[in-house]
Amino acid sequence: MSIYGDYIKSVIRTVPGWPEPGVNFRDITPLLQNSTAFRKLIESFVHRYREMELDAIASIDARGFIIGAPLAYELGASFVPVRKKGKLPFKTVSETYKLEYGHSEVELHADAFQQGDRILLVDDLIATGGTMLAAANLIQRCGGHVVDTSTIIDLPELGGSQKIRDAGYSVFAVCS
Ligand code: AMP
Repeated sequence: MSIYGDYIKSVIRTVPGWPEPGVNFRDITPLLQNSTAFRKLIESFVHRYREMELDAIASIDARGFIIGAPLAYELGASFVPVRKKGKLPFKTVSETYKLEYGHSEVELHADAFQQGDRILLVDDLIATGGTMLAAANLIQRCGGHVVDTSTIIDLPELGGSQKIRDAGYSVFAVCS
């Protein structure tokens, strides 16, 4: 939990049964509409990472970009988009991961960062952890060093953050 964790949690809306029955969707748009809350959210990440000497912020398509871009600006790091399959125009590298039904794939540009770069990986939410873990493995496979995996919301009851830790990465969540 971060410095503003309780406050940030209070401005996230849960929408039951969306996009399908059984899912409690965590909607961050009320947070984004609130300029004080959005600023405190970015400050929560800056507070943790200010001293860490990061080369790049990698963030995951699409809500991860909302945090990743201001963080990169604030920390003086570069920005690396991790995108869903078929969105990047240049030479790509990809990682496939399992969903409950079927598979998904995340992609990086092959020249997205330098070998050995210290990279922070950011997304909005960890549920099963599949997306974050695939992105972290992809970055490591391309020669980057994933310093931390970071999210606004962790749903620990789904076991995703533990799975990411078991794979050897550290996890930071603003709230859970
Ligand atoms: P997972 O790979 O299962 O950890 O799912 C994480 C990704 O799916 C993130 O990029 C989230 O944006 C999205 N996601 C999964 N579950 C939810 C949820 N309950 N509320 C909002 N977004 C979700």
